[in-house]
Amino acid sequence: MSSGACGSVCESGALMPVDEAIRYLLDQAPLPPPVQRVALDQALGRVLATDIRSPMNLPAWDNSAMDGYALRAADLPAAGGYLTLAGRIAAGQASNNPLQPGQAVRIFTGAPLPPGADTVVPQESCRVAGERVWLPPVNDGDHVRKEGEEVRRGDLLLRAGKRLRAQELGLLAGAGIARMEVYRPLQVGLLSSGDELREPGEALAPGQIYNSNRHSLAALLRGWGMEVHDYGAMPDKLLASRQALSLAAAECDVLLTSGGVSVGEEDHLKQAIEALGSVDLWRLAIQPGKPLAFGEVAGKPWIGLPGNPSAALITALIVVRPFLFRAQGMDEVLPISLQLPAGFDWPKPNRRRQYLRAKLVPGADGSLCVELHPQQSSAMLAAACWADGLAVVECQAHVRMLDKVMYLPFASLMH
Ligand code: AMP
Ligand code: MG
Repeated sequence: MSSGACGSVCESGALMPVDEAIRYLLDQAPLPPPVQRVALDQALGRVLATDIRSPMNLPAWDNSAMDGYALRAADLPAAGGYLTLAGRIAAGQASNNPLQPGQAVRIFTGAPLPPGADTVVPQESCRVAGERVWLPPVNDGDHVRKEGEEVRRGDLLLRAGKRLRAQELGLLAGAGIARMEVYRPLQVGLLSSGDELREPGEALAPGQIYNSNRHSLAALLRGWGMEVHDYGAMPDKLLASRQALSLAAAECDVLLTSGGVSVGEEDHLKQAIEALGSVDLWRLAIQPGKPLAFGEVAGKPWIGLPGNPSAALITALIVVRPFLFRAQGMDEVLPISLQLPAGFDWPKPNRRRQYLRAKLVPGADGSLCVELHPQQSSAMLAAACWADGLAVVECQAHVRMLDKVMYLPFASLMH
């Protein structure tokens, strides 16, 4: 068994700080998966494998930001005045005729400015009188979207390691980029452990429970853009565990298990993994979720989450997510956190950092504060369904009403 990050921490009974565990895992993350070339309509949620530079200026030419009239600002008297109307340009039309001195053209949003024009006046401030249009005073360049104002040809458009969302796909499309190099989705092998586990839809015999983690963890992985290889539940038997783990290691990039790491005598997972690779059993300063294991199975990284459903969910969100994101090739792997006033007292300091199921509610003055669910058991998920995020109470801290606490919205953890 390797001593890994844990070493003296685990043997002494001391608890490893959460941030240290995250840093250690980030250092151990494998290289990203192979690169694939995909079309825009296949690229949502994928991670760019190369920097992308813009092949063109954006906008590609000066164009109007309003429906109105285009003119050369220098032609107009300071107090405003009349110019001669000389044509009409709609979006999609070319504008080859140069503007002559004293002329204005009718123009629509997104249409190219004619050569010589530098300014647009919105139509609501203008008055047409026959062949002429009266225009109010202008500032040179008003309501014009200048060529290259957003991005210049050759500029970095998006950096390698960026996960593509709707806005990135729109930007790439706007620059005419139809295909791009992304990492293939990480293949994550998911296994639960425990003789007591049955699937929803099956009948329960005495002592049996339904398998929650298989479904909550698979959903997290899919939401993170990864591919789940679901191997179901391993019974608490050494041989069966070994077989399931070997198959998963052969087929996947990373293995994620739940249960069997608190090292009761029925936990055969540790023995099975030791036979195939190596195990570090960690005791993290986190609640819920103290037991967490890291190691490798036949050369593939493995993370063993606790079995209790809320502990499995929260350790996956806090500790596993950055590791898998790094393994997927992402550069930004830590979640956004907010500092917000506590709508609660947390009087009893704890030697573990608490991740409490919480939601944001308007306080007395209408500004948001963090409210806790009264039920914070690591075995129970109902509070996590009520919650829209996690409030973080540091080791040994006590929190008084309206103290600032760190709040991690689920929205920033589940994507
Ligand atoms: P263990 O870590 O295997 O000792 O499991 C700790 C607790 O979590 C026990 O109450 C298990 O029955 C429960 N548990 C383990 N795996 C799951 C699972 N996949 N779904 C729901 N509960 C589980
Ligand atoms: Mg078990």
